[in-house]
Amino acid sequence: VTSTPCAPRRGQLLVFWDYDTQWGADRSRSGSGPQQWGHLEFSCTDRLLQLHHDFQVPACFAVVGAAALRGTRPYHDPDQIRRISEAGHEVASHSFRHEWLPGLRTPELRETLARSKQALEDCIGQEVITFVPPYNQPFHYLAKGSISLSETWKGGVWHVGVPRLCAELRSQGYEFCRLSYRPFRTRLREWFKKRRVDEPSRVENIAGVSCVRLNTPGGFGEEATRMLERCAQEQALAVVYGHPHSLVAQNSQNERHLVPFLERVRDLRTAGALDVVLPRDLLRAKAHE
Ligand SMILES: [Zn+2]
Repeated sequence: VTSTPCAPRRGQLLVFWDYDTQWGADRSRSGSGPQQWGHLEFSCTDRLLQLHHDFQVPACFAVVGAAALRGTRPYHDPDQIRRISEAGHEVASHSFRHEWLPGLRTPELRETLARSKQALEDCIGQEVITFVPPYNQPFHYLAKGSISLSETWKGGVWHVGVPRLCAELRSQGYEFCRLSYRPFRTRLREWFKKRRVDEPSRVENIAGVSCVRLNTPGGFGEEATRMLERCAQEQALAVVYGHPHSLVAQNSQNERHLVPFLERVRDLRTAGALDVVLPRDLLRAKAHE
């Protein structure tokens, strides 16, 4: 009997794209009101699908559910969402209409989680088990010392925090969630260092949902590349994200940052130091543990 040798442990990378479309642009919280970049989501996603194909890197696209309903751009494109799925990428839910979750009442929260899941599953013909909250919020997670005064203030006494979101996700059939809360220990270090502090990530169970925390600031600049290198070395998990429409923006999500990042991913994979994974792969691995 020949036993299969255990695969050597490697670093892992999760790549997320938050696919907001005009639903997200209408609810922009950048401070200058509704934006008009919704149409860019579609042309930039076509470009992204090409880049991900060229580099053979799978990604998780967190899609606003309403975009999967029949209709026209800049609000809808079910055909493109199907193409994303057919190219081997994972489609996650990014709420139904890009709602700010901390301010929702329980029935509204349940509705946006359920409707987005249903619309996406009807569109791609596959189960949707991963969720990415719009604006990366809630941050509020009292048990971990992550306190958001603005969520408490603007979301009201019963505002939705991390544990309640996860409990609702679980009851709606979701199994995985990307989060962005900052534990007390991290906040303390950030306060001392006067800058963002990130650590290699790991999967944690919150209310029955497998969660990963973002450990890069968004985009594919120096900080994201440093975390990628570090996770490859320490056999840990790096979590990066961007928005398709920002592929042409003047920030670290621009293609001129993304392409060198993907080249580095290719080199690390060739060297046997990195696996690119999807949330559903991590769940499958967990099931086999
Ligand atoms: Zn978003």
